[in-house]
Amino acid sequence: MLIVVRLSNTMEKFLKRKLTVLHETDESSDDSDSLKQKKKPTAKQRKYVDDYVKYGFVESASDPHRPQCLICNKILSNEALKPTKLDRHLKKQHPDLAGKQNIFFQRKKGRIFEANGSF
Ligand SMILES: [Zn+2]
Repeated sequence: MLIVVRLSNTMEKFLKRKLTVLHETDESSDDSDSLKQKKKPTAKQRKYVDDYVKYGFVESASDPHRPQCLICNKILSNEALKPTKLDRHLKKQHPDLAGKQNIFFQRKKGRIFEANGSF
């Protein structure tokens, strides 16, 4: 009987210590995880899609992650690199060209690349 009590006592101590250690490591790993997540850049870079030429935009020569307007040559931010934003710029800034077909911008794009000599 005495042996059993002693054994369970040591077992209890051992388990308690183990649980504390486990708890501590869990906490520290949680902390480092949240720190890592905070350090990670959350902003995802948008990518230019060839299809965006129908909105009158091409990749900016200086930064391929930014759209450049073929009509006013304005370079928009990377966040504006999505159809809704590009469409809005076209309709707001160049309403007379909003109804133009792809071919108009395709030709304009081709002319720009010819002028730059990079095509
Ligand atoms: Zn424009």
